[in-house]
Amino acid sequence: MWDEMTQSETARKHGIVNEPGREERAAIEELVKRTLQPLRLAYGRPIRISSGYRCRELNRLVGGSPKSQHIKGEAADCVVGDASRLLGVLLAHQIPFDQAILYRKRNFLHVSLRSMRNRRKVIIMDN
Ligand SMILES: [Zn+2]
Repeated sequence: MWDEMTQSETARKHGIVNEPGREERAAIEELVKRTLQPLRLAYGRPIRISSGYRCRELNRLVGGSPKSQHIKGEAADCVVGDASRLLGVLLAHQIPFDQAILYRKRNFLHVSLRSMRNRRKVIIMDN
């Protein structure tokens, strides 16, 4: 789980140690336990995490928003054969999440979870 949620090709290339702190680790654990594991079970096919936790430096390098939930360990980008279907599964199975962003063209689903006050906000992007 930790490898999957912290590995990054960009971090490797730039020699960045993408190591979450205590709070971020707690957030990652919640995200995996409450959102990603149930989503995997419900989807029934492999889900590859292309980006999970990002330290500030890594987030800057990949062009992430300075307020990105990836920095807090609250978000993961899920790559599957059909990201639209994955979003459908997320919604149909009442899996907890804060924000889901479907990138239609790039075919991945960004999904996040907060410790409380999760908004279940869905955004569809054309890129
Ligand atoms: Zn993301």
